Amino acid sequence: MSMTKLLHKLRPVLVPMGPLEKIIPQKFEAVGFGWVMFYRGKHTYDLYVRYESIHFQQQVEMLFIFNWLTWAVWILYGLTKYRSLSKAYSSTPFEKEAQLIVRNTNYNKERKLWGWTDHV
Ligand SMILES: [Zn+2]
Repeated sequence: MSMTKLLHKLRPVLVPMGPLEKIIPQKFEAVGFGWVMFYRGKHTYDLYVRYESIHFQQQVEMLFIFNWLTWAVWILYGLTKYRSLSKAYSSTPFEKEAQLIVRNTNYNKERKLWGWTDHV
């Protein structure tokens, strides 16, 4: 099986937010970190699972740690450039790639390896 096909089959472990719902800002329907994805609500559940599975694939293909480091560098760069955390956040290539799920709800199953590099 190719690395890309294997990535498409991998799924994060889904965990309800529970008490974290009060701490995590409302705008986040789901939050992924490492192998775990915390989710709230039911209506957007499916889309957010697919959205977060893109972030999950990005992390797996970069062995997690290199994704987090690259992400941190991008946030710092964005902060100096935009002086806004939310702008810095949405300007990372990882976020830009994950946003493609809004236009193509199957993107998580079709994405190519290192797909985020198209958004650098
Ligand atoms: Zn995201």
